[in-house]
Amino acid sequence: MALYSRVSGSVGMITLQNPPVNALSAAVRQGIVDMMHRALSEPEVKSVVICGQNGKFCGGADIREFGAKMTGPPLVPMVHLIEAASKPVVAAIEGIALGGGLELALSCHYRIAHSKARLGFPEVALGLLPGAGGTQRLPRLIGVPAALDLITTGRHVTAAEARQLGIVDEVTDLNAVDAAVKFAQSVTGKSLDARRISTYPCPRPPDLDAIFERAMQQVRRSARGAIAPGTCVQAVHAAVTLPYAKGMERERELFSLLFTSGQARALQYYFFAQRAVSRWSTANGARWDTSKPRPVRKAAVIGLGTMGRGITVSLAQAGFSVVAVETQEKQLSEAKQAVSGMLERGAKRRGVPLAHDKIKYSCSVQAVADVDLVIEAVFEDMALKKTVFQQLSAICKPGVLLCTNTSGLDIDELASQTQSPELVVGMHFFAPAHVMQLLEVVYGPRSSPEVVATAMQMGKKMGKVSVAVGNCRGFVGNRMLKPYLEQAFFLLEEGATPEQVDQVLEEFGFAMGVFKVSDLSGLDVGWKVRKADGLVSPASTGTSARIRGGSRYSPLGDLLCERGRFGQKTGRGWYQYDKPGGRVAKPDPWLHGFLEEYRAQHGLVARHIDHQEVLERCLYALINEGFQILQDGIAAGPEDIDVIYVLGYGWPRHRGGPMFYAGQVGLDKVVERLEHYQQIHPDVPGLQPCSLLRKLAASGNPAIHKWREVIQKPRSQL
Ligand code: NAD
Repeated sequence: MALYSRVSGSVGMITLQNPPVNALSAAVRQGIVDMMHRALSEPEVKSVVICGQNGKFCGGADIREFGAKMTGPPLVPMVHLIEAASKPVVAAIEGIALGGGLELALSCHYRIAHSKARLGFPEVALGLLPGAGGTQRLPRLIGVPAALDLITTGRHVTAAEARQLGIVDEVTDLNAVDAAVKFAQSVTGKSLDARRISTYPCPRPPDLDAIFERAMQQVRRSARGAIAPGTCVQAVHAAVTLPYAKGMERERELFSLLFTSGQARALQYYFFAQRAVSRWSTANGARWDTSKPRPVRKAAVIGLGTMGRGITVSLAQAGFSVVAVETQEKQLSEAKQAVSGMLERGAKRRGVPLAHDKIKYSCSVQAVADVDLVIEAVFEDMALKKTVFQQLSAICKPGVLLCTNTSGLDIDELASQTQSPELVVGMHFFAPAHVMQLLEVVYGPRSSPEVVATAMQMGKKMGKVSVAVGNCRGFVGNRMLKPYLEQAFFLLEEGATPEQVDQVLEEFGFAMGVFKVSDLSGLDVGWKVRKADGLVSPASTGTSARIRGGSRYSPLGDLLCERGRFGQKTGRGWYQYDKPGGRVAKPDPWLHGFLEEYRAQHGLVARHIDHQEVLERCLYALINEGFQILQDGIAAGPEDIDVIYVLGYGWPRHRGGPMFYAGQVGLDKVVERLEHYQQIHPDVPGLQPCSLLRKLAASGNPAIHKWREVIQKPRSQL
């Protein structure tokens, strides 16, 4: 709601009250409208200040009300009422003015901001546009290029930048509400004709068409199929080409188009999913609200390769003291240099103090004796990791958390090497670890709730989104990747090319197709794992070369590795690159010839494979594994899987994540298509719909937030 008070006799003060961010709920909007009428009708009141309680102006629309029936006064007439007021209205912006909050501020005649305030239009990230005049007022106030930048990216600006752009009139280091009151008194009685933004003509730079053309190209490049950024461009275009009232109509049309699109639903679901994963629970009943994290001040990282370096940087930037251990002298000195470079670049980009002095390097594991938590990041080799865990268990003080960054090895097997298996968890970072936001916290059957809580909290302090998952081969992310990759390989065997498969996946919205990703991360990584699993057999031909354990297997990746084609690092993989380490993937005629020869050798006849088949086989196999993971209790809910896929695997955010996407497609349709492909490929068990998926499909495709009710039933009923 909104509170009304009178300050200094002549200033009517409207204070928004809706914790935590004073969002514009129905009650708040009603309060603003009522209080505005009151302020305008009281003859003693000469000017009005609008502010928010607890140091926050307004965080925008109340997204909890999305999807519910609209009640209370709509935003647009509310902002028009404020702008049309005959008494000056001043916004006192403390903390945040975001989305509808900024639109509210733009309807005021003046804006005073505190120096620490942040302003912006984040709607685009929720698949929407600022629909209460934001797209019409902002370009009138700050010009088209700056408005396009803010509205299409959703980026927040500081008060200083807002002042420079002309969004706010004054910035203060003191109390912004007091400053706004003084300001309101100073403008009492002044004409408001030049203060109503909707009456401004929209500036028309001479190169207007080129500006819009560039903006469209830019959003097309970065949006990966998301429709909101391009629609934001269209709305700003309306501000320049139409009178204000017509522009508002156009804004409303475009807003409804986005609001009713599946993408806005997906992005809003994802927004809540990111919050939901912090309320974690484990298969054996531990929970976020009953498990207390332990204090951690000093941490160690063992192994300073690709991952260890990034983890060290993340820890130091989060303020932890770090002991960084690497046994190879040469690796150690290279790592020191690389870590320093990353810290310097981070400090420059984010303006944080340099954290060099937080890190102590050592080539002896004995140096970890006094730390509170260790993260092991040595080679993916169970025997080596076991030795390291035995050493750590002997050296570390009692009660120290021992974490591993393994990509998929058994956490419990590692825990069994230590004196306190309850202190062992996985902390699975993603490369580059100082950049990627995802952390899978992997609990074993013996990990204590306190230890899970500590790892989850550590991730949060390092700026990551931590997701708690159970212990199984590949955990959640890499386990689901296996059937996806497998289908991609099978499609090559049946007649597709890497370019064709990648193009379909990129058109779907993945940042990179499966083969480009494979080239980037190195084909040898999976090869080593397959060799350790005994899957790589000496070159042979015929059907037996493509069967392992009674199921279909494609040796294509192994054959490329045998030829030294490890991807970008060797300049050749599924694509060719201009040099080892090159980044630009080009189709490789050699690879096409190799695939033809391979098919001939194995009696396979290439056929035309269409877009739909590529998409369905790759995605539905991955989704099916996701349902199996839910059924096995490895992930607590679909949100956990979706957050992992969006943040760790390039799944397009505007499609919500694989589980949400399955719900949008229709679970019955996913089952039907999987059954169709399984009939054609009976030797691929991953295409057999799992019982949870079947059960959910049979119960009428319930909304995703209802899945947990089915998942929580005893497994025997699935
Ligand atoms: P890497 O080969 O780049 O680095 C491993 C480092 O460990 C090397 O510098 C090596 O000298 C060092 N090392 C080996 N034995 C050691 C010991 N006893 N004591 C101290 N240092 C030792 O490997 P990486 O890519 O950083 O992977 C490390 C771990 O992270 C693996 O378990 C891997 O599966 C996992 N992981 C990797 C990625 C990735 O994309 N690279 C992503 C997530 C997880």
